[in-house]
Amino acid sequence: MNTRYDVAIIGCGEAGIFAGYELMRRHPALKVVTLDQGADIYTRSCPIVAGKVKECIHCKICDTMCGFGGAGAFSDGKYNFTTAFGGWLTDFMDGKEVMDLIDYVDTINVQHGATTEVFSTTTPEARALEKRALEHDLHLLQARCKHLGTENNLKILQSIYETVKEHVEYRFHTAVTTIENRGEEGYRLITDKGDEVDCTWLIAAPGRSGAEWFANQCKGLGIELINNQVDIGVRVELPAKVFEHITDVVYESKLVYRTKQYGDQVRTFCMNPYGHVVAENVEGINTVNGHSYSDPKLRSENTNFALLVSNRFTQPFNEPYRYGKHIASLSNMLAGGVLVQRFGDLVAGIRTNEHRLSKSFVRPTLTAAVPGDLSLALPKRQLDDIIEMIYQLDKIAPGTANYDTLLYGAEVKFYSSRLALSGELETALPRFFAIGDGAGVTRGLAQAGASGVKVARVIAERLGK
Ligand SMILES: Cc1cc2nc3c(=O)[nH]c(=O)nc-3n(C[C@H](O)[C@H](O)[C@H](O)COP(=O)(O)OP(=O)(O)OC[C@H]3O[C@@H](n4cnc5c(N)ncnc54)[C@H](O)[C@@H]3O)c2cc1C
Repeated sequence: MNTRYDVAIIGCGEAGIFAGYELMRRHPALKVVTLDQGADIYTRSCPIVAGKVKECIHCKICDTMCGFGGAGAFSDGKYNFTTAFGGWLTDFMDGKEVMDLIDYVDTINVQHGATTEVFSTTTPEARALEKRALEHDLHLLQARCKHLGTENNLKILQSIYETVKEHVEYRFHTAVTTIENRGEEGYRLITDKGDEVDCTWLIAAPGRSGAEWFANQCKGLGIELINNQVDIGVRVELPAKVFEHITDVVYESKLVYRTKQYGDQVRTFCMNPYGHVVAENVEGINTVNGHSYSDPKLRSENTNFALLVSNRFTQPFNEPYRYGKHIASLSNMLAGGVLVQRFGDLVAGIRTNEHRLSKSFVRPTLTAAVPGDLSLALPKRQLDDIIEMIYQLDKIAPGTANYDTLLYGAEVKFYSSRLALSGELETALPRFFAIGDGAGVTRGLAQAGASGVKVARVIAERLGK
């Protein structure tokens, strides 16, 4: 089957959704299609969450990462109003424009049921916290933040889907396998069903799950790829009380520290007060993540957050993605999935086993994690960095370095190879745009959504002319 559209969008995660939404608003007459390898927002269901299996069975298409809402659909939806983290859009446009786009995406979310409650950073308590952290060389990056909540996040996405589907054709369970450059005619997408989709304008928003595939397509199309980073670390889980004085004041606290031993940058990331640690499947590799519910009834007694060491490579190695996957696969090899170790055991150089874990005061919320030894999976440098950071955090949140603090591994944040893009997020090929996490320009909901709105406006404006 061959069909022709004005605009084709690959992927309906946050970036692809907001590109479609804004095209609908700015240019409703356009014929737009979105193709996604995953399912619609009503039928996405991970077999672990559905209680059908205990551990990841490596579904061909991961329902947690793919489908309407993308990787963010089952996240607890921390929406950060900042350009300081969550992406690199300020490399392409000025900070004010990025903030305007982030605010705009928020107004759309609010129209579809998102909370209006914002955690502010300008309170005296937040400033005092920043000062206290600084006294210990910990740098608190603060941002206004909204907590959409895992359950509300789904409702918001459903409402957006119901609105946009009247204008944008969605083809689910449809993976794009090949992108062809057809010159003046535009682009042809070949799908795994053998269909051909022709379009004048192409927006690629394949997210992290499609990043490797997309990078290969770009190489074939002669589009330059710029090296990017990979962040490797662990997820820390401890009693919520240890971090309460911080999480009550700044919901999403990001603390950055440069280690004395190596001069590496370590940061806290994705803080989930009263949350749950979860396993996540990235292209067949089990990594770890976390989330939290806004409904108090669904809360745990623990807080979890990631501790990540940023790694950037220079010549001759240029495949950070492969490096990160390799490290995550080591802990998978040892544990058959996610590995968990008590901090005290790690420092003492002993493996955490079932017996030792059963004595822990901190009860793991990811019960499928297998007790083991992280030092056999993570490189020494990253592990030393993490241990140093935990002792540093202990100075502002005493209890962080307790023996029973749990460390899950490996947590790996892959950032797709970044494409060489114009200030309008257009590739070197005309009318071919790349947005969101898969293009290596964002790593969070707010900037991913903002990048989608940006390219939709560029297209609408050019068509207007
Ligand atoms: C567990 C978890 C929790 C998170 N929590 C937060 C949070 O609280 N706050 C925050 O700001 N960010 C969070 N993030 C990150 C956030 O979800 C991402 O930054 C955001 O989803 C990126 O949006 P995207 O549209 O670029 O990509 P994605 O959301 O990854 O969407 C990409 C889509 O493209 C589709 N696709 C890929 N390749 C193809 C192909 N070849 N053919 C067809 N379709 C394809 C995929 O199926 C997918 O649906 C979280 C991520 C995870 C995994």
